[in-house]
Amino acid sequence: MSQTDHLKTDCSKCAALCCVVLAFDKSKDFAFDKNPGEPCRNLSGHDCSIHDRLKQDGFAGCVAYDCLGAGNRVVQEVFAGRSWRQDPRLIRLMMEAFSGMCEVHKRIDLLRAAETLQLDQQDDLTRQSFLARLEEHRWSGPELNEFEAGLALEIDLFLHGIGAYVPASFS
Ligand code: SF4
Repeated sequence: MSQTDHLKTDCSKCAALCCVVLAFDKSKDFAFDKNPGEPCRNLSGHDCSIHDRLKQDGFAGCVAYDCLGAGNRVVQEVFAGRSWRQDPRLIRLMMEAFSGMCEVHKRIDLLRAAETLQLDQQDDLTRQSFLARLEEHRWSGPELNEFEAGLALEIDLFLHGIGAYVPASFS
């Protein structure tokens, strides 16, 4: 595993991206509707003003959500700590980068989980190589935009292939 655990979410290094980027519908998990790219009305700066009472106030969906470190990585690595608060024109770019980084981090999570399978040497080397590329690379916005149509497909094919190693009782 690399020195920085990229899957560790650190909201203090983010710009509340999940509270801006993601949409939700009024339901048992969210008390009102929110459009994608619209800062949640419960935001105060980069903090949730109802953080200590999310469930009581009807936002169980926020408690359950974890970006797997994608938000803090985007803000620090792609935007050098800048925020849409200082420059609202960044919202669209941050939305795109956050979406791409979430896909990167989902693959990191799956490739790490595959460590528990009894992969042959070549497949394990391939697994480690993909992981290193996702974890050690310093991503740019354009690279994140291209991720799903490129490297993500290669990784998904590999993950599909190693599905044969999953014990029958888990498949
Ligand atoms: S309720 Fe709080 S945690 Fe949920 S989206 Fe709004 S600001 Fe973020």
